[in-house]
Parts: sequence; C-alpha cells; structure tokens
Amino acid sequence: MTVIGGGIVGCATAAELSGRGLTTVLLEMETGLARGTTSRNSEVCHGGIYYPTGSLKARFCVEGRHLLKQFCETAGVGYRECGKLIIAQDQSERDELERLLALGQANGVEDLRLVEQRELAILEPDVNAVCGLLSPRTGILDAEGAVRAYAQLAESYGAQVMTGARVAALDKVAGGWQVAVAPVGDKRHEGWTHTSRLVINAAGLWADRVAALAGIDVAKRGWQLHLTTGSYFAVADAHAGRIQHLIYPVPPADGLTLGVHVCLDLGGQMKLGPDLEKYDCDLRDTADGPAGITLDYSVDPARRGTFFEGARQFLPWLAATDLTPAMSGLRPKLSTTGMVDFVVCREESPELAGLINLVGIESPGLTSGPALAQEVGRLVAEMDS
Ligand SMILES: Cc1cc2nc3c(=O)[nH]c(=O)nc-3n(C[C@H](O)[C@H](O)[C@H](O)COP(=O)(O)OP(=O)(O)OC[C@H]3O[C@@H](n4cnc5c(N)ncnc54)[C@H](O)[C@@H]3O)c2cc1C
Repeated sequence: MTVIGGGIVGCATAAELSGRGLTTVLLEMETGLARGTTSRNSEVCHGGIYYPTGSLKARFCVEGRHLLKQFCETAGVGYRECGKLIIAQDQSERDELERLLALGQANGVEDLRLVEQRELAILEPDVNAVCGLLSPRTGILDAEGAVRAYAQLAESYGAQVMTGARVAALDKVAGGWQVAVAPVGDKRHEGWTHTSRLVINAAGLWADRVAALAGIDVAKRGWQLHLTTGSYFAVADAHAGRIQHLIYPVPPADGLTLGVHVCLDLGGQMKLGPDLEKYDCDLRDTADGPAGITLDYSVDPARRGTFFEGARQFLPWLAATDLTPAMSGLRPKLSTTGMVDFVVCREESPELAGLINLVGIESPGLTSGPALAQEVGRLVAEMDS
C-alpha cells in the first residue's frame, strides 16, 4: 500500500492499514510531517453540528471525534474537552440556534443544549450574547502531536514513513500502480519507483493534482480544488484565561465557513479566525505539480479592522490594538459557492483500479481524519474479501 500525504488523514490511514497487517509506505513531499493544512487550522475537534444529516462530513466528524479523543488520550497527545458555545445576538439568530440544535441532534452530537442569557453570563461572563447553543463535547487538541503519534503507531506496525519524498508520477501496471518518487529538499535520496497494489491519495491541497497524475479528468468529476485562505489574529496575552469555551457566531448563510470565532489553544492562548479570502494562485499553472511552489501563508495586517469589528459585538472589552497577525491556512474547497461533501472514492474501472481518492478534505477534516482512515481500511478489506 502507498499512502500519499503526511497530514492527519494520511498518517491515520497508514496506521490503520499497517495495523491490519498490510505492508504500507507513506510518502510526504515536505521534509517533515504535518506541514500542510493539518498544522494550520483551529485545532478544534468538532462536535458535528453543522453538516447535512447523512453527509460524510456529519458521519465522519461525529465518529472521528470519538476516535481522535480516545487516540489522543491513549497516545498521550494533548487534548482538552473545553466545550463550545455558538452565540446569538438577536431573535433571528436564536431561531438559527434552534435549527442547529435540531440538526446536531439528528447528526448524533451528544449533550447539545440551548443556554439562556443568565446561564451564559455564568459560563462566560465576558461574552456578550442573548443566548447560546452549548456543545460540551467539542474539544481542542495538539494536531501535530496527533499526526506524529499516528506515524509512530504506523511505524510500530512496520510501515515506512518517508518525508522529502514527492510522488511525481503514477502509472497503471498489472496488479497495481507504479509510483515514481522524486526527492525534495536536502535530497537524502535520489528518487525511485516502486510498484504498489493500492495507492491512497490523501494529498490535501494537492489531491486533485495527484488524481490527475493517475489519469483522472478532475475537471469532469468536479474535483478541481479552489483554495481559500483563512487567517488568524492573536489576542493579547493579557486576556489569556478570560474565555473558557470556544466561542462561535451563528455561521454565515453561505455555508463556506463557520464564521470568525474565538479559538483557544491548549496553553490558554486566544486567537480570532479564520476569515475567508480567495487564494489568487492557480496551482494548475504548473506542469510539474507542487515541485518548487511555495504557498503564501502570510497574513495581511490590514485585515485587523475586519476582525476587530466582527469580534467586538460579542467581546465588548476587545481593543483593536489587542490583535496581531498570527497565521493562516488554506482550505481545499470543491466549490466556492456552498458546502460540498468530502469525496471518498475507490476507483472501480480497470484503468484506475487500486486507487482510493480523498478529495476536498476541508473542515472538519482534522476531526474526521481517523474516521476517514477507518473508511479506507473498510474499502480495502472489501476489495480483499
Ligand atoms: C483555516 C482552517 C481551519 C480549520 N480548522 C479546523 C478545525 O478546527 N477542525 C477540523 O476538524 N478541521 C479544520 N480544518 C480542516 C483541517 O485542517 C483539514 O481538513 C485537515 O488538516 C486535512 O488533512 P489532510 O491530511 O487531508 O491534508 P494535509 O494536512 O494538507 O496533508 C496533505 C499532505 O500531502 C502532502 N502531499 C501533497 N502532494 C504530495 C505528493 N505529490 N507527494 C507527497 N506528498 C504530497 C502535502 O505536503 C501535505 O503534507 C481547518 C482548515 C483550515 C484551512
């Protein structure tokens, strides 16, 4: 088995497959693991509220949350069930919270409940809102730590985990795929080709490019990824510890994001984000896939005003000078106009058999990673039975 991509999805998948006794190699083009989207997000282990009931996002988010929490606790990876509040500023937003409550319950999210202003004032005295939807099971984690622990688990089952190894070509051969690997960075190897019965494409921002390497017409399938940037601003240390739960607004109606929210990390540091901006680099301009492309993760300091205006309605004590540009991540979106489900596709045609594609793994992909890995394991077992 060859797994392409050393983010949460690839590493959890390598652990899953090697744990089933399958010979597995994981290839990551960066010189370390978790250098892609997995290390550039809110590190929230989501409840599973927002996604249409029956969608892969809803299912894998709820399943993945349980798996990820249990894995982190067993592997000694930082995890805290801090809980989350989605807050309403007026009656129309309250109606939306009631809709989200029903949706979350239909998705199997546990212990959700509406909290009125009086209780909200006890839970979060420094947050301004008329009521909230409490999701006590939402947590935060050390995402890079989880990736490292999955990779170590895979290695303990005998998997090979290779960094600085970019998959540059995929050619169908009898009984599987010939995988051509090119060196990256310090060139600790000269590159090689190997044959693999099965290839798993967990290449994140580049998953459409990798699918195209295998000969898939990604435009025809609607798999072209549109990248959008999500930036974060750190809140001054002086306010650390002031907020206990993750605080989210009612999500924008476009379904593209959850809205700029208050994120907490395991150290209690607070940041605001992510917003949404189109990423103006067409990755498909390069003939050679990701080789040599440096993605732009800079944060425009001029966006501070927008963050401040958005947050001060529920954090009235916030000053614009409390905010400093922090970090950004890129979302691999299948659509720029609305919510689209994850693609998990085992290829069945003779010219593509032996390939499983995971495309459009945007949020809640961190939470869903272990459940996506289990699904890949199930798809592989089905082929072998
Ligand atoms: C701003 C933002 C906030 C988010 N917040 C959350 C959140 O709070 N909770 C949540 O659940 N989800 C969140 N997400 C989504 C989550 O981060 C992603 O869905 C998840 O990290 C995707 O993991 P991945 O393994 O698919 O991709 P990645 O982490 O991007 O890993 C893919 C890897 O494949 C490698 N690769 C690509 N091409 C090749 C090749 N040809 N050869 C070898 N290697 C290759 C890349 O280098 C990369 O390391 C957020 C995303 C963003 C952008």
